[in-house]
Amino acid sequence: MVATRSVHKLRELGDLLHLERGILLSLDDLGVQGEPVEDGPTFEANARIKARFAAEATGLPSLADDSGIEGDALGGGPGVLTRRYSGPNATDASNNAKLLAALEGLPPERRGARYVCVLALALPDGRGPLGRLPVILRRGTCRGRIATVPRGEGGFGYDPVFEPAAEPPGGRTLGLYSPAEKHVISHRARAARRMLPVLRDLGF
Ligand code: IMP
Repeated sequence: MVATRSVHKLRELGDLLHLERGILLSLDDLGVQGEPVEDGPTFEANARIKARFAAEATGLPSLADDSGIEGDALGGGPGVLTRRYSGPNATDASNNAKLLAALEGLPPERRGARYVCVLALALPDGRGPLGRLPVILRRGTCRGRIATVPRGEGGFGYDPVFEPAAEPPGGRTLGLYSPAEKHVISHRARAARRMLPVLRDLGF
């Protein structure tokens, strides 16, 4: 199962992870209530928290995605705070507006950024000495820069303001990529390609 309520993440992971035996189900599909406290200092820590929460709640092998964006000129921020960058009621639009404002006036060479995705797979059996479920982690990143204006309706989140590194400044944002094009280069695709052999080895 996938420890997410994000339809976007679930759709992308479904495209990326073709399981031979097994299906991806979300927390909502399984009627899991409540939310884990994502208070870790790293993507890895938060992915681990979410995956363990789901595996404890369902007794199933559980995959979690913790992801975000790191701006070079922001010292790697917003990083683990990406989802709530513009406050507790943040929307994609308010987050994108805050990011553009933070980089206002900077030239392309100072607008560098990367997306990070950490996938965590928590297994429901084989607790360690502290009673914790085992977790396997895989990471993927995608280099690019922050555009000066949002462009495109595709993808989700920060995609309208993220220009992949292969694009010239002012070129296409991920919001203008097709899903298939995004899956060639995205942070989530890279993490998924690294997790797939683990899932296959477990028989999925
Ligand atoms: P999380 O759900 O706590 O992992 O937060 C992920 C944050 O990163 C959200 O604000 C997402 O919109 C953003 N994010 C993660 N992956 C992507 C992506 O592929 N495109 C755009 N935004 C993303």
